[in-house]
Amino acid sequence: MTVQLSIPKDVKAHVAIIGGSGLYQADIIEDAKEVKVYTPYGEPSDNITIGYIKGVSVAFLPRHGKGHRFPPHMVNYRANIWALKSIGAKYVISVSAVGSLNENMKPGDFVIPNQFIDMTKLRKYTFFDGPITVHVSMADPFCDDLSKKIFESSKSLNYRSHLGGTYICIEGPRFSTRAESRVWKEVFKADIIGMTLVPEINLACEAQMCYSTLAMVTDYDVWAEKPVTAAEVEKVMTQNIEGARKILYDVVPKLKEGPDENHCSCCKALEHAIQ
Ligand SMILES: [Zn+2]
Repeated sequence: MTVQLSIPKDVKAHVAIIGGSGLYQADIIEDAKEVKVYTPYGEPSDNITIGYIKGVSVAFLPRHGKGHRFPPHMVNYRANIWALKSIGAKYVISVSAVGSLNENMKPGDFVIPNQFIDMTKLRKYTFFDGPITVHVSMADPFCDDLSKKIFESSKSLNYRSHLGGTYICIEGPRFSTRAESRVWKEVFKADIIGMTLVPEINLACEAQMCYSTLAMVTDYDVWAEKPVTAAEVEKVMTQNIEGARKILYDVVPKLKEGPDENHCSCCKALEHAIQ
């Protein structure tokens, strides 16, 4: 595969996929080429692979870089979202591995969350550090239309999946204590837990892109007191990654039309946000 050092004007991608743990390769993309994108915020996690899925232009970026070089708190989220926006992406499908805080969301299940709680501490949350000040609405942070389409694809492929749920994002890289895990589950009523949603979703919103997450449950968080072996997690991860590939291959062609006012209002996120 050749790597182009600057973005030719004709390089465009309608749908962006951000791959999480385990999903580093874009082998479902046809006619693929890699581009290196420069941003005002530094380098994205890796080169971006651009190509097609059934005729729809797609960009793929591994969030942690190939070989998992960047742990969650070191990912350059601003560069990643900027880079995907700069090549024209309107949709962002974020794939991530999560722990479950909900008995009904089992290892191997997919969850397409509709809310989040931010417990991160030390990240760059906005493109607007002044003098322009922006307060985007986060009441309904995920793109409803995109989430439904991902869910429909997962169901049509007969995967156990859940539409809706609250993702709690912790700073990491350490996992939760038992006391913390009980708070997330019993007090905050969160359903799944991960380390990468925030600020990726904030930035996508500021960039007026439709953003949804395809979360893959790998294990129950520490609250369950059910120790899992690394081999069990590995087995579930392998199945999940295969499932995620199939879901992406099914859903991307359905995004050919849109987004526009008939689908959602994500592309107008800044309309009443700039002060
Ligand atoms: Zn949208």
